[in-house]
Amino acid sequence: MPDETKKTRTSAGKNNADKASDRKASAAKGRRLRQRPKGKIGEVWVVIECEGEVAARVSWELLGVARSLAADLGSRPAAVILGIEDQCQELSRQSFEHGATAAYVADHPALVPFITEPHCQVLAALARKHSPEVILLGATTRGRDLASAVATEMETGLTADCTALEIDPESLLLRQTRPAFGGNIMATIITPGHRPQMATVRPGVFPLPETVAGATGEVIVSKPRLAAQQPVRQLEFITNPEEEVALQGANVVVSGGRGMRQLKNFDMLEELARELGGVVGASRGAVDAGWVSQRRQVGQTGQTVRPALYIAVGISGAIQHLAGMQHSDMILAINSDPTAPIFDIADYGIVGDLFEVVPALIAEVKKRKAAAAKGGGAAAKGGSEAAASSEKAAGAETATAGSEKTATATKNGDSETVTTS
Ligand SMILES: Cc1cc2nc3c(=O)[nH]c(=O)nc-3n(C[C@H](O)[C@H](O)[C@H](O)COP(=O)(O)OP(=O)(O)OC[C@H]3O[C@@H](n4cnc5c(N)ncnc54)[C@H](O)[C@@H]3O)c2cc1C
Repeated sequence: MPDETKKTRTSAGKNNADKASDRKASAAKGRRLRQRPKGKIGEVWVVIECEGEVAARVSWELLGVARSLAADLGSRPAAVILGIEDQCQELSRQSFEHGATAAYVADHPALVPFITEPHCQVLAALARKHSPEVILLGATTRGRDLASAVATEMETGLTADCTALEIDPESLLLRQTRPAFGGNIMATIITPGHRPQMATVRPGVFPLPETVAGATGEVIVSKPRLAAQQPVRQLEFITNPEEEVALQGANVVVSGGRGMRQLKNFDMLEELARELGGVVGASRGAVDAGWVSQRRQVGQTGQTVRPALYIAVGISGAIQHLAGMQHSDMILAINSDPTAPIFDIADYGIVGDLFEVVPALIAEVKKRKAAAAKGGGAAAKGGSEAAASSEKAAGAETATAGSEKTATATKNGDSETVTTS
């Protein structure tokens, strides 16, 4: 929807309801124009989600994105920290190290702990005052809640769960890409007529930016006017133990799919994950079968992970699953079907029966760890290195064990293929 500068005319023949509706539309247009000052490109803001002095990792990931968006806009990336000033000082410092060049700090006791309403009021007031071009939030429980409230308050657009963000070089609009229609297409969404342009991004979608130790920036502190007693108070915070499944920060994720056949077969994935210092994830196929909690689901409607090593076991590689793991540093796929789409994005693939390959992998990892502990043989240095090399060994071992099935270890991207049978 293009910006509209024409005045709305009310025709003499209109009835009262029409006139009221015209007045409402006219007021809305006025608001839109006020929110987008002509000739000035606003900043790119990232709302820092925090618990005391500890920020959510996704906030730093977003500052990396904000830095490049701001560079393309000829603007500056800024952090927005809502809380108590003392706690916010440390977060401002960290924000500068992660790429912000300004930090807006709103200091009020009613902002701690997080309650949507006061955070919404303060963020919307800051946005009205400083007219940022873009506001980014993590697509976390809290971020989704706050983003939608602020977008409603500001009467602007919000694109949730973006997987890519870039500035259109012609229009300087934010191009917000996200899966649509059940993940079958990627839609690029723009917000041409309203400001700020708002988007949420799930944790792990973007990498952490490189930090610059000792970086500094401008701190703008405000003391919002909020009632000390808010109508909503937090009485208690109860953590769901399932949330402890730290998929997002894990260095190694071993995920099982429908090919695992039943719940008890996940024991071997637990063992492999434990040996590699990782955690177990799952495809929606496995979640829908009732073998694994939804909290472990990786993908479009699950979590987004970016580990050093992702092992997909008995997972076909549907686009909705890939959406949650395709940015892993190294992907190893184990599947009996050589045409499974998961092999298209895997760095290493083993075509074989997972019930033979996974135990062989576990045995090899154990052997190498034992050798490393004794100080001899090949050292199993990091999860990914150990797994990648043991994967090749596992393929070979399947062969020497005289398996009836064929196990093929391939490295994606070149024609080097090791076939064992
Ligand atoms: C709106 C929407 C959102 C979705 N969100 C997600 C999401 O977030 N995450 C997600 O994962 N999916 C999601 N899905 C579902 C997705 O489309 C697939 O249905 C799902 O990922 C399939 O799970 P799977 O790969 O485990 O099962 P399948 O597709 O059934 O694949 C099982 C694989 O196991 C292999 N296999 C079987 N036996 C063995 C064996 N013995 N050894 C080795 N390999 C074996 C088979 O060859 C097969 O490739 C979503 C779908 C929709 C419509």
